[in-house]
Amino acid sequence: MRFKFTEQQDALRREVKDFLEKEWDEEAQLRAEEAGELASGHSPTLHQKVASKGLVALNWPTEYGGRGWTPIEMAIFAEELGYHKVLDGVYRNTMIIGNSICHFGTDEQKKKYLPDIAAGKTLFSIGYTEPNAGSDLASLETRAAEDGDEYVINGVKVFNTGGHIASYCWLATRTDPDAPKHRGISVFIVDLKSPGITIRPLHNVADGHGQNELVFQDVRVPKENMVGEKNRGWYLMAKALDIERIRTSPSGRHQRVLEMLIEYCKETKRNGIPLIKDPLVRQQIVQLYTEAKAARLISYKVIYQQSKGEIPDVPASMAKLSGSELSQKIAHLGMQLLGPRSIIHGSSKWSAMNGELEHMVRETITYTISAGASEIQRMVIAGRGLGLPRG
Ligand SMILES: Cc1cc2nc3c(=O)[nH]c(=O)nc-3n(C[C@H](O)[C@H](O)[C@H](O)COP(=O)(O)OP(=O)(O)OC[C@H]3O[C@@H](n4cnc5c(N)ncnc54)[C@H](O)[C@@H]3O)c2cc1C
Repeated sequence: MRFKFTEQQDALRREVKDFLEKEWDEEAQLRAEEAGELASGHSPTLHQKVASKGLVALNWPTEYGGRGWTPIEMAIFAEELGYHKVLDGVYRNTMIIGNSICHFGTDEQKKKYLPDIAAGKTLFSIGYTEPNAGSDLASLETRAAEDGDEYVINGVKVFNTGGHIASYCWLATRTDPDAPKHRGISVFIVDLKSPGITIRPLHNVADGHGQNELVFQDVRVPKENMVGEKNRGWYLMAKALDIERIRTSPSGRHQRVLEMLIEYCKETKRNGIPLIKDPLVRQQIVQLYTEAKAARLISYKVIYQQSKGEIPDVPASMAKLSGSELSQKIAHLGMQLLGPRSIIHGSSKWSAMNGELEHMVRETITYTISAGASEIQRMVIAGRGLGLPRG
């Protein structure tokens, strides 16, 4: 067993850290907010900079403009994104889809989409969830019916992150309604400007307008936009989910916020004594610091298995469960420590920790729902990890 990154990996971490400290410091974040860039949870300016540094293509083969990184380097990158508070679901979607096109796309699809993704010019949104298909995704009903050289798509998608600013939707559809539910699904790349698509905003508690409802009414998509084999889309989606599991960004964020809380408790006195000397405060911080270390190690186990070509289903569920629930615990401890100042927006002179906690409390509500709710992760761990019979 070797608990150490290589020298090259450490150098990569420094490169990413230096880059983000320069390009995404508090001033840059404020500029992005003032320019209205963050209303959709995405900063095009930062995205362009990340792209020009060659960081979007991550582990793609070098022939498509990638760096040929392994899951370990991707994880280091993601951890630094989290530490530096790059909260960018849309951009993450685009990286996940870029990887999936590398794996499953035709040569034409690779030539058409990959260069623009690597250059930071194209954004993708993901269209999986429907009003009646969330946790039980294989029940999705959006229909793609063959008609000559095209498919005609009808249906509704919800919780679609970033569809209002993306160029394309990575869309899961049912192409064989008679097959068992996992076997009749196909994935398409759909141009979001196609006639028949209506995009309606869904405002959530965290970011304002981040998600959308997408309605597809007789939307015609050329056959060549299908990715992978017809009716084998479930396999493709599972692989894309695997890539999404390289999610060490929560670990980076936990570390950063705990560091900020410790600083706050050193600087802030209650009854003339620094908070950090209060035994209860110390106990609470140390408890969450320990949980953060444990969650981080579980996510390293996921990455290790991925780098060996194994499928880390149980550790991935454990990492998602522990990481997302811990994010909420850290936010709530922060609220207790900061008191009323914790709910003041960062733009006010009365705010503490730049309003970090005010946003974190709202944002982390969604963490235990998106990308598979906590209950579903527990079910995976119960069945595949502990071998328990179905409840
Ligand atoms: C911020 C955010 C961004 C998102 N972005 C996207 C996106 O870009 N694209 C996309 O396609 N989707 C996206 N989603 C959707 C997300 O994947 C779903 O919300 C998630 O899979 C849960 O589905 P649901 O909302 O339909 O809840 P449901 O499946 O209806 O679940 C409701 C509750 O019931 C519980 N539950 C369900 N089934 C069981 C069971 N069998 N046993 C025990 N408990 C159960 C769940 O755990 C949950 O607590 C996003 C969601 C959020 C919150």
